[in-house]
Amino acid sequence: MCGIVGYVGRSEAAPILLDGLRRLEYRGYDSAGVAIVDGDRVETRKCAGRIAALAKLMAEKPASGSFGISHTRWATHGKVNDENAHPHFDASGKIALVHNGVIENYQALKEQLNRDGNHDFHSQTDTEVLAHLIGSIYQQLDGKDSKARLVNAVRAALKQVIGTYGIAVVHANIPDFIIGARRGSPLVLGVGKDENFLASDVSAIVAYTRDAVYLNDFDVVAVERDKFEISSLAGETGDHQVSKVEFTAEDIKKGDYPHYMLKEIFEQPDSVRDAMRGRLSLEDCTAKLGGLNMTPEQLRDVGRVVLTGCGTALHAAMVGEYLIEQLASIPTEVEYASEFRHRNTPMTPDTLVFAVSQSGETADTLGALRESRRKGYRTLGICNNVASTIARESDGGVYMHAGPEIGVAATKSFTSQLVILTLIGLLLGRMRNLSTAEGTRIIKELETLPGQIEEVLKLSDQVKAIAKKYVDVGGMLFFGRQFNFPIAVEGALKMKEITYLFAEGHPSAELKHGIIALVRPDLPSIFIAPDDAVFSKNLNNIEQIKARKGPIIAITSGNGAKQLKGLANEIVSLPDVADCLSPILTVIPLQLLAYHLAVELGRDVDKPRNLAKSVTVE
Ligand code: GLU
Repeated sequence: MCGIVGYVGRSEAAPILLDGLRRLEYRGYDSAGVAIVDGDRVETRKCAGRIAALAKLMAEKPASGSFGISHTRWATHGKVNDENAHPHFDASGKIALVHNGVIENYQALKEQLNRDGNHDFHSQTDTEVLAHLIGSIYQQLDGKDSKARLVNAVRAALKQVIGTYGIAVVHANIPDFIIGARRGSPLVLGVGKDENFLASDVSAIVAYTRDAVYLNDFDVVAVERDKFEISSLAGETGDHQVSKVEFTAEDIKKGDYPHYMLKEIFEQPDSVRDAMRGRLSLEDCTAKLGGLNMTPEQLRDVGRVVLTGCGTALHAAMVGEYLIEQLASIPTEVEYASEFRHRNTPMTPDTLVFAVSQSGETADTLGALRESRRKGYRTLGICNNVASTIARESDGGVYMHAGPEIGVAATKSFTSQLVILTLIGLLLGRMRNLSTAEGTRIIKELETLPGQIEEVLKLSDQVKAIAKKYVDVGGMLFFGRQFNFPIAVEGALKMKEITYLFAEGHPSAELKHGIIALVRPDLPSIFIAPDDAVFSKNLNNIEQIKARKGPIIAITSGNGAKQLKGLANEIVSLPDVADCLSPILTVIPLQLLAYHLAVELGRDVDKPRNLAKSVTVE
């Protein structure tokens, strides 16, 4: 959440900062702003609204200079308005700061500042308090070396902070110099030739450089045109590796698609293929996941699995529970990361914990990972962003290799997570009782998935026609059983996220325990009912809704369509696949349904109301 971009070099900073902000807009779009240093003046432009509004403001009132910082906000403290937009300044008006995160003790720090001096605050943000704190310490410090003085002021201020931050700081009188620091919120240094960058995410800077240093918590970096120095909050310097960014600027373009979400839905044949590439062994009838960093003995001795995540990743974990229990017979629990980290889940020493997060930065999931590691459990990550905090802090893991996901509503990362959880189930299963024949069957079915996804995507027009027909509905109910119960929940989440319609997902059989009271002619029920072991049970539930005049949209497969004829109002028929892999196909029409309905309703599909991607606040 919230995007930061900083630039110091020889080019005009403004277009680079704006371009970077556009690429980070998925992280927050409440307001945006820049601070560019020109001579010894800090020129600020900021306003509520999207980056487009800031770009317009900057076109009317340009700001020139070759170094500066910028921000796109997802508000946590203080309304969405011009005043609360970042950058914020210290009392002298010389130090500008942008911030991603939450200063939890900002009230106490504010009171302390007000006791000690004269501070006028112009916003309601926690961030402005930090700017004043840095400024006030800077005033008190001596020293001719103003760069060292500013670094020391930033360090001293951050030592007083309780909470999370990724920050970038500039001073009007210290040319070509930016300070970055992080704790809990991501920050990357982009290393260029005669220019350097700071950003919340490499996608902001990959058009300029593919050399990046992923900063760690408590790192403070002093960035100049031709050098940078990374030290800890305590002042110690250490080694940092420069990594090559995996993707290029091309990969983060929308191409011919009207929205990133649609592009990412259509990328699923490739992303699913990439999630299993090089990880299947037909010879041993199992999966190879070297990144788990576990010996065969350790894998064999896993007694329990906990899968934790938030939102869509949590729904993937719910499918994972069914998968791992079915394939490997290992008791598996799914835990909301936000609950898991604060409660005392009874665990056995042989428990393996997985933290599932597309961005690898999700604050609650990171908190769960840290809590589980603190207690001594082996904790593995399932992430998309290479070198993200979760990937770096876990004992091992599996990368999704799905490529950048920009649409705020997660799509391709979900199906990649499902593939990876299948591979984990297969691997753990083959360490136990899963036969070579079963292992081979799963691998063969996995290999056919990309082609089958292509087939499902051909149904986009049919789904679009359904969306048009149901555009006036008051909401939607989603039902599924077994492997497809989590898909009902995920389908409902997609619907809520981008159409703003009321939607809920439930196990089909729960209908009669209360939900059936909601059934009415303007509230369609979406049944995820492939031709699987529980199809006939789903059929019963569909009959119950039909008897009460509720419209039914059925997602089915194989012979399902025949049996649903005359019962369901709409039938979307998918290719047949093993029951445990069916969620990878059934979720796609639900992604498409949410997408087409959102477009029909005129919603901002890639940047839905109040949401942001990469949820780095708790
Ligand atoms: N807490 C800060 C604010 O509300 C920063 C939020 C963010 O991460 O965008 O302005």
